[in-house]
Amino acid sequence: MAAPRAKLDAELVEETLERLRRDVQPICEKFTLRYDHLGASYDKSLYGFNREKGKIIRLRLINLRTGKLRSYNALLYTMIHEICHCRYHSHGSRFYALLRKANAYANKLGLYDPERNQMPQRPIHPPYFDPELKQRPARTVGDPVQLELFA
Ligand SMILES: [Zn+2]
Repeated sequence: MAAPRAKLDAELVEETLERLRRDVQPICEKFTLRYDHLGASYDKSLYGFNREKGKIIRLRLINLRTGKLRSYNALLYTMIHEICHCRYHSHGSRFYALLRKANAYANKLGLYDPERNQMPQRPIHPPYFDPELKQRPARTVGDPVQLELFA
């Protein structure tokens, strides 16, 4: 099945990015995470990436199957994953500990719609995306978040 070639409306992109920036602000403050720039990506192989610990974060907003905006829960989940990379570059146990705390805080703040699944069906970005990562992360097996992401 060929993916739709549609691009998202520029206004919708900006509104969504603005909502994400606003929503993660208290999370950044609580966990002292800092990023400089958030933008949209059209990279089909990734949900998002973080370059140089927050200098640039980009998220893919479009759902490749429908050509529409990805669900806000999935976008927020990806964004929180990426801001955690501002502290830890690789997917180690400290990274996932921070990610769990940040997501728990987001839930407490009511940022996620509890009616909807917040998990993307595939990894945010494959382990091989990280050029400094010489091998698969040690916590791949047994980490519930990771297991769900790879499910
Ligand atoms: Zn990651």
